[in-house]
Amino acid sequence: RAKDRGKNQYCYYSEDMNARMLEELTLEHELRKAMENNEFELYYQPQYDFVTECIIGNEALIRWHNPFRGTVAPDVFIPIAEETGLILQIGEWVIREACHQNKQWQNQGLAPRPVAVNVSPLQFLQNDFVPKIEKILRETGLEPKYLDLEITESIAMTDINEAVKKVKRLRDLGIQVSIDDFGTGYSSLSNFRDLPINKLKIDRSFISRIHEDSKDAEIVDTIIVMAQKLGLEIIAEGVETKEHMQYLKERNCKIAQGYLFSKPVKALDIEQMLKNNHLLIKGYCTK
Ligand code: C2E
Ligand code: MG
Ligand code: MG
Ligand code: MG
Repeated sequence: RAKDRGKNQYCYYSEDMNARMLEELTLEHELRKAMENNEFELYYQPQYDFVTECIIGNEALIRWHNPFRGTVAPDVFIPIAEETGLILQIGEWVIREACHQNKQWQNQGLAPRPVAVNVSPLQFLQNDFVPKIEKILRETGLEPKYLDLEITESIAMTDINEAVKKVKRLRDLGIQVSIDDFGTGYSSLSNFRDLPINKLKIDRSFISRIHEDSKDAEIVDTIIVMAQKLGLEIIAEGVETKEHMQYLKERNCKIAQGYLFSKPVKALDIEQMLKNNHLLIKGYCTK
């Protein structure tokens, strides 16, 4: 009967919700311990210039190695870290670790390249965000121009004047600032006009469909042209095929990250790649 079915559905639904809440609470608890137990690791994904065939930078991407869960992807735990505020602590560790590692590579005599670090909105909105960054740079000895902070469009939707001021302060220090996942947010273009950023990263959802959906191709074309007109650098994310690369090349967009070149890998693997300027994973690079 309908009434019974309704009741069952309700029970089922609420059990499902309880299970989800419990899972989130457990994750939160485990995340707190993860910080203490050093369960986080930074992987790096090369940023590749396919015209000069050089690795021109690396993006740091966090991984969580949990003894019971195995390696957990950031899409699973970053949202919870954001909800609980734990992202502040985790994010600070990420910036410090990325700066430290990059300085290490330079100390080893590897050609200096910037490291890109994802910054969550909560982190960016902290009053003392800029001094915190300065302190990390001082302590790790990394020159500011080798740090590239990736922020998202959402920061432009809170207090745009505050955001502009903060980005300007970062830029004045010599730090690079990029907009990540460009095109996926809801902010208006006028918000960007005054934001003194260096770079736009085209979200991989557009790249993955350039050959399937003409609208996505149009969006990619438009972002590239706009970036060029505004004098911004541009990086394509999620370049997986030679066809993607060819498409971008024809539009004079020559820097990309993607599985075609390399997945995110451990620091030691990046070190090998940097030593040879070689992308090991797909054996793609010709150098
Ligand atoms: P993101 O910053 O846009 O990073 C790019 C994501 O796309 C990475 O996923 C990367 O592995 C993936 N990717 C790169 N090339 C390809 C490709 O060719 N094909 C496909 N299918 N995927 C590709 P990952 O490492 O799982 O990170 C997911 C998201 O988690 C990141 O997106 C970023 O928003 C967030 N995240 C990662 N590390 C951190 C961190 O340290 N702090 C913060 N706040 N967020 C982070
Ligand atoms: Mg990113
Ligand atoms: Mg992102
Ligand atoms: Mg992205």
